[in-house]
Amino acid sequence: MRHRIAVVGGGPAGLAFARVLHRHGYPVAVLERDPAPDSRPPGGTLDLHEGLGQLALDKAGLLAEFHALSRREGQAMRILDTDGTVLRDWRPRPDEQANPEIDRGQLRDLLLGPLDVRWGQGVTRVVPGTQDGATVHFADGGQETFDLVVGADGAWSRTRPAVSSVTPHYTGVTSVETSLDDVDTRHPDLARLIGDGSVAAYGVNRSLVAQRNSGGHVKVYARFRAPVDWHANLDLADVEAVRSSLLGLFDGWAAPVLDLLRHGTAFVHRPCYVLPVSHTWTHVPGVTLLGDAAHLMPPLGVGANLALLEGAELAESIATGPGDLDEAVRAFEEQMWTRAGKWAQITMAGLERLVSPDPAEAVALFDQVQPS
Ligand SMILES: Cc1cc2nc3c(=O)[nH]c(=O)nc-3n(C[C@H](O)[C@H](O)[C@H](O)COP(=O)(O)OP(=O)(O)OC[C@H]3O[C@@H](n4cnc5c(N)ncnc54)[C@H](O)[C@@H]3O)c2cc1C
Repeated sequence: MRHRIAVVGGGPAGLAFARVLHRHGYPVAVLERDPAPDSRPPGGTLDLHEGLGQLALDKAGLLAEFHALSRREGQAMRILDTDGTVLRDWRPRPDEQANPEIDRGQLRDLLLGPLDVRWGQGVTRVVPGTQDGATVHFADGGQETFDLVVGADGAWSRTRPAVSSVTPHYTGVTSVETSLDDVDTRHPDLARLIGDGSVAAYGVNRSLVAQRNSGGHVKVYARFRAPVDWHANLDLADVEAVRSSLLGLFDGWAAPVLDLLRHGTAFVHRPCYVLPVSHTWTHVPGVTLLGDAAHLMPPLGVGANLALLEGAELAESIATGPGDLDEAVRAFEEQMWTRAGKWAQITMAGLERLVSPDPAEAVALFDQVQPS
């Protein structure tokens, strides 16, 4: 019997879920708020880990295409002092496949493939327990009922309140993102500093990280501890004012490192919010959550990986299980909570060390996790 299934959100979690169900011949309604795939910049590069994101793509039958698109050399990582001294310079072997990088836009297009997404279909709330299933309410005033609604709608999920009253809280760490275009021709010195992958410099309670994307595009993240309203007297839309404020915060750092901010084209504020470590809920028939909607954690290279794997696993347990939809969801939730709780602890501890009063903590963490 085919169930009526909807997934709210066409990010990594929602698309992996839909794509694996599609592979097994199951129809699913993908409800995405964005009006079109390219309606906003897709964000920076993602490294997909062998036992997480890559496993999900394997379940979707997309691993070979991922390897063709991804950048193994992008795993390279350089660490600098605030005076620009190179402390670590790790380069992957040519056959290193542990964490290749892929642009988010490329990953989205790979997952989209044959999927029929309902673009511009913003969801305002989900009401479980109606006689006929769970009812999805849309921003355009419409509504529709499904046997299962999967909330894969990210940090500020509109589906989450159907199962949990918990909301994200601020970690005390914020981030401002900027970009460099065509770095190899326009900023060759910065291109050399960044190398093939990423460069990071750690100071007291702050860091600057630059990550190479494909096509000479670079994303730069200035991360620092600050109250949530640190920008109260700053117009975040005023590029020069934000640049000058950041240069003040990183005052005294080496000029070549600060060039990452000086040449940035626009600035996006990304305060770091998280859900409580080990966020779980009492199972609600007809609704569940995946990815950031279920377990928002610090952005330390694992959120999209978990989102992809959870999407693929839930789809597989629905498509290949004995047919009881609610049992498939219950079993999946237990598995997701255990793994996500472990990663939430790791990433929270990692955030403490990467944005720390003692910058040596960040280097020690790098030495602990980097493959030799
Ligand atoms: C700066 C930064 C860098 C990161 N780097 C990495 C990394 O290197 N590796 C990694 O694994 N993770 C990384 N992450 C984390 C990763 O981005 C997230 O964990 C991941 O995107 C979560 O996927 P998701 O599908 O759960 O949610 P999202 O990616 O947030 O997708 C949610 C989707 O739902 C849609 N949506 C939202 N609300 C509604 C609504 N009401 N109705 C309909 N649709 C809706 C959104 O438009 C979006 O398409 C990073 C995060 C940040 C902020």
